[in-house]
Amino acid sequence: MGGAGYIGSHINKMLCSQGSKTVVFDNLVYGHREAVSQGVLEVGDLKDLERLDEVFEKYEIEAVFHFAAYAYVGESVNDPAKYYNNNVANTLHLLDTMRKHGVKYLVFSSTCATYGEPKVIPITEEMEQKPINPYGASKLMIERILKDYHHAYGLNYCCLRYFNAAGADPEGEMGESHNPETHLIPLILSAAAGDRASIKVFGTDYPTRDGSCIRDYIHVTDLADAHIKAMDYLKKGGGSTCFNLGNCIGSSVLEVIRAAEEVTGKRIPVEIEERRAGDPPILVGSARKAQEILGWTPQYGDIKTILSHAWSWYCNKRY
Ligand code: UDP
Repeated sequence: MGGAGYIGSHINKMLCSQGSKTVVFDNLVYGHREAVSQGVLEVGDLKDLERLDEVFEKYEIEAVFHFAAYAYVGESVNDPAKYYNNNVANTLHLLDTMRKHGVKYLVFSSTCATYGEPKVIPITEEMEQKPINPYGASKLMIERILKDYHHAYGLNYCCLRYFNAAGADPEGEMGESHNPETHLIPLILSAAAGDRASIKVFGTDYPTRDGSCIRDYIHVTDLADAHIKAMDYLKKGGGSTCFNLGNCIGSSVLEVIRAAEEVTGKRIPVEIEERRAGDPPILVGSARKAQEILGWTPQYGDIKTILSHAWSWYCNKRY
């Protein structure tokens, strides 16, 4: 679900390259047809129960990866209805369709935004989840619903709490391309390319080492690998649970801009702005649990590697 989007398209490619047969279900509102180079694409919306049912009838579906969601923190503060309707109500459609068709395995895209403003860094999975924006709250609601569906209906799930997905396919086939673009790294690169005048830094008065927000950027190919490992774990009888997916490395907004200047060789003009609503100062995750239980080790943890793959994609974008 949502396999034509930034993260889903990387998992689709990896699954297909490992010999799995995939069906991508996507409404193409934010997804890109061109991002689905392999597997079948079925265009449809999760709010359309009949269409969903039709696709589950048509194919023998064994397991679901669910990426389809709205994911703009700032927008979720201004328009929570959009987030609760799509991320929560429409996900219930999916879960109930899975039940109806006897599909027992789900890997769900959750987020570090479920933790809110953590008291201790790095964040581990058992820490309190108190989201400070509707986006994080919508994902936490699904985590809760999954627990209950597991208990009552035997649905087996892994919630993967992503830190900040970044980078691009090292082979250059897919990358990050949102419209509108609100994410830090593509915006920095567009400023480096001269496609925008500057990058705005949302707040330099946070209690961090340079005053700008700190995030844990994780390469999208590493995320893809974790999804496949999580699904294998479930199919082998692993218990339903949640995993953080991050590098345990925090980079501030200003540090990412400086690293991007080095990678691109361009000067990137900066404008200091007010804080953006809904942004916690620091989100850095411990992924020790995923390393121990799934045997997952990120390959592209260095921010400059992440930026260099994102930069190659930016310069040779296919969509
Ligand atoms: N950010 C920024 N300027 C921008 C976009 C983002 O300073 O134009 C900051 C944002 O406040 C956050 C970090 O960069 O601290 C990462 O934001 P992004 O939107 O990429 O991901 P999020 O953390 O919201 O998932």
